[in-house]
Amino acid sequence: MSKILFTPEESASRVLRFAISPTLLATLFSLWLLSMLIMVRADEPVSTSSPLPPVTFENAASEVVEEAGAIVATALQHFEKVTQRKTGNRPIRVRFVEILSARGMEHLGDGRIQGVTHHEADFSVIEISTRRTSSWGRTLAHELTHVFVREAYGKVANRTLNEGLAEYVAFRIFPSEVSRDLSNAHASLGPLSPARRPYVEGLRFVAQHASDKRFPNFFESAIKNPNSSYQDLKETWKTASALLVAKQSSN
Ligand SMILES: [Zn+2]
Repeated sequence: MSKILFTPEESASRVLRFAISPTLLATLFSLWLLSMLIMVRADEPVSTSSPLPPVTFENAASEVVEEAGAIVATALQHFEKVTQRKTGNRPIRVRFVEILSARGMEHLGDGRIQGVTHHEADFSVIEISTRRTSSWGRTLAHELTHVFVREAYGKVANRTLNEGLAEYVAFRIFPSEVSRDLSNAHASLGPLSPARRPYVEGLRFVAQHASDKRFPNFFESAIKNPNSSYQDLKETWKTASALLVAKQSSN
């Protein structure tokens, strides 16, 4: 005799539960990220003529110090390609620490912090957690971008663009790791978690527009507006694009 495992009502309820489950959301998000990854990977290789920033290390293994130079150079190249700004003069101190300092962490709060950056008057300090789950290189690439943004644009920074560009630069160097981190964040916290939004939405925004020749000018004005949300940025981008089209057609 065959056994009925689920009544139709139970089956429907299981389907519904799957439809809104974190697993499905994470799967959909991974597919979206994959499509973005293909788009981003189609870019031309990058190069820079800038000098490398002076970087010193504390409490770092010798192989970290050896490999870090290539990550610093590549992160700088990606930053300059997207923003068309020259940076790389601000001294950087990289520390590996068990407990991240509270400084610069007031906006973070989801318990998954891998590193922080804080800026002194004429140098920046990057702390990388020894208890992180990501690789040190991925964390370094992200935090370095915050230093470049500070050097190029000054103190005020729009959070979505700042975290988005940092994730974008890390993504260009460590694509599978950044995709995995964002998918995991979605699976555990849901797509609307306020703590993850600037990273996910920012990466999405930067990846969508980074190769547009109008993006450097847009970024330069929008990064100085700390209160713009993702929706605001999308609206501003549309308006800026429309203005440029109108300007071209009146010529
Ligand atoms: Zn960050």
